[in-house]
Amino acid sequence: MSRRMKAAVVEQFGAPLVLREQDIPIPGSGQILVKTEACGVCHTDIHAWHGDWPTKPTLPFIPGHEGIGTVVAFGSGVTAVKEGERVGVPWLYSACGHCEYCLSARETVCGEAQFGGYTKNGGFAEYILADPNYVARIPSGIKPTEAAPIICAGVTTYKGIKETGAKPGEWIAISGIGGLGHLAIQYAKVMGLYVCAIDIDDGKLAHAKRLGADLVVNAKAGDPVETVRNGTGGGAHGVVITAPSLGAFKQGVGMTRKCGTCVLIGLPPGEFPTPLFDVVSNCITIRGSFVGTRQDMAEALAFAAEGKVKADIELQPLSAINQVLERLQHGNVASRVVLDFLNG
Ligand code: NAD
Ligand code: ZN
Ligand code: ZN
Repeated sequence: MSRRMKAAVVEQFGAPLVLREQDIPIPGSGQILVKTEACGVCHTDIHAWHGDWPTKPTLPFIPGHEGIGTVVAFGSGVTAVKEGERVGVPWLYSACGHCEYCLSARETVCGEAQFGGYTKNGGFAEYILADPNYVARIPSGIKPTEAAPIICAGVTTYKGIKETGAKPGEWIAISGIGGLGHLAIQYAKVMGLYVCAIDIDDGKLAHAKRLGADLVVNAKAGDPVETVRNGTGGGAHGVVITAPSLGAFKQGVGMTRKCGTCVLIGLPPGEFPTPLFDVVSNCITIRGSFVGTRQDMAEALAFAAEGKVKADIELQPLSAINQVLERLQHGNVASRVVLDFLNG
């Protein structure tokens, strides 16, 4: 094994990532080393690269939290995974395991959680260090490139839909039909929901139709809140907002049916106004949802391994990362770009 690896590194917020060779990290006690086969590019990587959020990553760092690969080396004391096993290194890189949230299967909000490609180096590199207790187990029967989007976009939307509490036969509205949203439509259909897809791009909406959306709405044409309320007979029982745009959030609350739940997933920096009287008098729940637990991950991957949910992917080499991020930022990626480390 060569001791050097290629990596795409954020050295300054907002400046192009630097493609460089650096030492392959050596797993310490309780750590594993994963040889990357594929890594999806999520809109969160844009926020990380720009330093959009209140707590910023420490520079320099390697983004990427949809990395899939095989375990090639161990530190001492690792028993949870075997050499050669295929794993994913997700956003929830690790958690403490003993706080009230970890003990009650809500580990994504652990105060000591580390985040892949953010507080820990991620998958835009040929090797990734990982915590064996928090890696995703990739079922056989799903290719690494197709598994990659499931470990963030998939699990996040699968969990978000569950958090709405919408039941089979009810309506779910999904705002933002990009990497997350195109998988959300498929999970929602598998879960027996009627799906209303909202985006600002007609190409994304045509794709939503092909994926089974029952109603599609362009948020730039007329009043999308009225259109959704009319099309669903009074609003969607569950709303999942993945759009990285503040305007979509107020609209999403307006699209929520009385007593329904609006789940916030997109993370554009800032705040949005909430129509207090409407939310109170209609008994609407607004809640945040942050990726998913390890159990949600196993469930989300199982649907993909069974072929019930399939990520639409465009493969690119690591060397194209700056063009890919630029396109993603401007809405010019059809669904998900996956960096392919085996052919590139
Ligand atoms: P993406 O760029 O692939 O897709 C975003 C989609 O939203 C695009 O199709 C775009 O056309 C659409 N859009 C933009 N403005 C819109 C508007 N006003 N109304 C409706 N649609 C609009 O991004 P992605 O990778 O799917 O990520 C989306 C967001 O979710 C990002 O902010 C990301 O950080 C966040 N995210 C959150 C979690 C979480 O755990 N909560 C996990 C992953 C990603
Ligand atoms: Zn992500
Ligand atoms: Zn904890």
